[in-house]
Amino acid sequence: MAIKDTIDGIKNLAVGMENLELISKLIDLQSQAYEILDENRELRLELERFKRQDELASYLSYEEDVYYRKDDNSGPYCSRCWDVGNMLVRLPISEHVDGWKGLCKECKSWGHVPEHRIPKK
Ligand SMILES: [Zn+2]
Repeated sequence: MAIKDTIDGIKNLAVGMENLELISKLIDLQSQAYEILDENRELRLELERFKRQDELASYLSYEEDVYYRKDDNSGPYCSRCWDVGNMLVRLPISEHVDGWKGLCKECKSWGHVPEHRIPKK
């Protein structure tokens, strides 16, 4: 039986007893129980996000300055954004005098593209 069902049952008994103080305390208890249930729901969602991030981290391969996904070979992704905020931000790459680089549109940092990842012309 869920906590709100239990409280509703006790509240119905209190109403039958016409004890206003008890009814008032039960309404307070019901409100506190709803707050705990909401907080519990939010914590479960947060835990689920952490689990997903952990799983995603196991798919990432750090190569020079950037990350690539091992499962679908996509990337490069910004290493700073992932390391600091667990955000997987794709880096548009372009050729420069000192090699290929990806620029993060989120944090504006650069990452060198590894030699074997440079697109063939
Ligand atoms: Zn970034």
